[in-house]
Amino acid sequence: MTADLCDERVRENLTKLKLGRMAELLDSVAEEATQRGQSHLEFLDRLLEEETAVRAQRTLKVKTALAHFPVPKPLAAFDFSCQPSIDEKRIRGLATGRFVANGENVIFLGPPGVGKTHLAIALGLEAVARGYSVYFLTMAELVDQLAKDIEDHRLTERLRALAHPKLLILDEFGYVPIERPVATFLFQLVSRRYERGSIILTSNLSYGEWGTVLGNDVLAAAILDRLLHHATTIAIKGQSYRLKEKRRAGVFRLPEA
Ligand code: ADP
Ligand code: MG
Repeated sequence: MTADLCDERVRENLTKLKLGRMAELLDSVAEEATQRGQSHLEFLDRLLEEETAVRAQRTLKVKTALAHFPVPKPLAAFDFSCQPSIDEKRIRGLATGRFVANGENVIFLGPPGVGKTHLAIALGLEAVARGYSVYFLTMAELVDQLAKDIEDHRLTERLRALAHPKLLILDEFGYVPIERPVATFLFQLVSRRYERGSIILTSNLSYGEWGTVLGNDVLAAAILDRLLHHATTIAIKGQSYRLKEKRRAGVFRLPEA
């Protein structure tokens, strides 16, 4: 077989096998291998590594999109120095994803603007990077969604869908009042996920206030019982980062004035 024919057939087969990156790099990697006197095995290894890397990147992108994060907030962008109430080591420990592997929960409590959502997303991104399925939604979104689901008689499907991801992030528990059907749904969801799938929950409320928001102390106790059995609670104190930034901007502007 001539070299041209061989080249053509290799390309055709790579395309058939959907090894696009290998086809793309075939020439340059082959040339490099010749120049460096690499073995056939080294040549093949290099091509396969390139293909695998591209695939891993693609999977990560798809999983990140499926997670439905409102904004990307990586852990690297979190400034621990301006939030002394947070134990950085604890967050770094959570970022390893072990809590997800164990089906444990993480609860971020604290006033607005202290970084609860940021850290919830950051841990979500770390979990995605480790191959876990993640889904993020705010309590307001859930309440809206459930109102539609009740009309469409789709609550069972919704429960199944939200029970599925290995990590479910429920953001901003406590801002919107919760009616009985939603409270019952939450109980079912937490029960379904108990010891099977992790939940990260953020809230501006203390646990003592859950009964009021859920309009039912017994249900609140039952939800908390399951949620907190295997859970890390991170209570964040201090000032809002948003306001801090504003204040700092004000201070910096002063000398110019
Ligand atoms: P919360 O959910 O507690 O109300 P957020 O996580 O939404 O607060 O934080 C508010 C804004 O401030 C976000 O843009 C977030 O990225 C930023 N932020 C909060 N804390 C920090 C921090 N320690 N380092 C960097 N950015 C922060
Ligand atoms: Mg928030």
